[in-house]
Amino acid sequence: MCDPSDSKFEAGLNSQLAGWSVLWGLPGFEKRLELTFSRRFRISLGRCASAVGEIRLAAFLREGPAELLTEALCHEAAHAAVHALHGRGPKPHGREWKELMRVAGFEPRARIPAILLEGVAPALQTERARGVWVHRCPVCHASRTARTRVSRWRCSNCRKNGLDGRLIVTRVDGPASAEGMS
Ligand SMILES: [Zn+2]
Ligand SMILES: [Zn+2]
Repeated sequence: MCDPSDSKFEAGLNSQLAGWSVLWGLPGFEKRLELTFSRRFRISLGRCASAVGEIRLAAFLREGPAELLTEALCHEAAHAAVHALHGRGPKPHGREWKELMRVAGFEPRARIPAILLEGVAPALQTERARGVWVHRCPVCHASRTARTRVSRWRCSNCRKNGLDGRLIVTRVDGPASAEGMS
């Protein structure tokens, strides 16, 4: 990287990693980590190959709020630290991982609520913009959703009872699916 603002940015991330490493009782651990940003992530924020300390974060995090990037970085680094401290035994987001997140000052959540990713994760944005169509029966309140309006759908329950089973169709914003880290 020859852009000076880039190297400053990376130095900032590295000093965060160094700070957590000390808190985790692994001083210097940041030197064993390799951080890269990938444009391949669409909704997921990051991944970590714990055994070799390879952390990959979504490139879009660089343009989002700093807190989000920091949490995602800590999340993945904690996976690597769990491996360094406890080996392969612990569950990915188990007790050991949660403890390291708390020590670093984060609420140990395996997933970041979708609402915080709005406007940050490009794929999530299009998903929301697309929305869904809810087909609801006004008689028994049964409902089905679809990506498009399906005018031929009828309420099967109500039809069995001799009614016409017509549904009321409304459009709502896309599902706020919680986004992912691993
Ligand atoms: Zn019905
Ligand atoms: Zn994870």
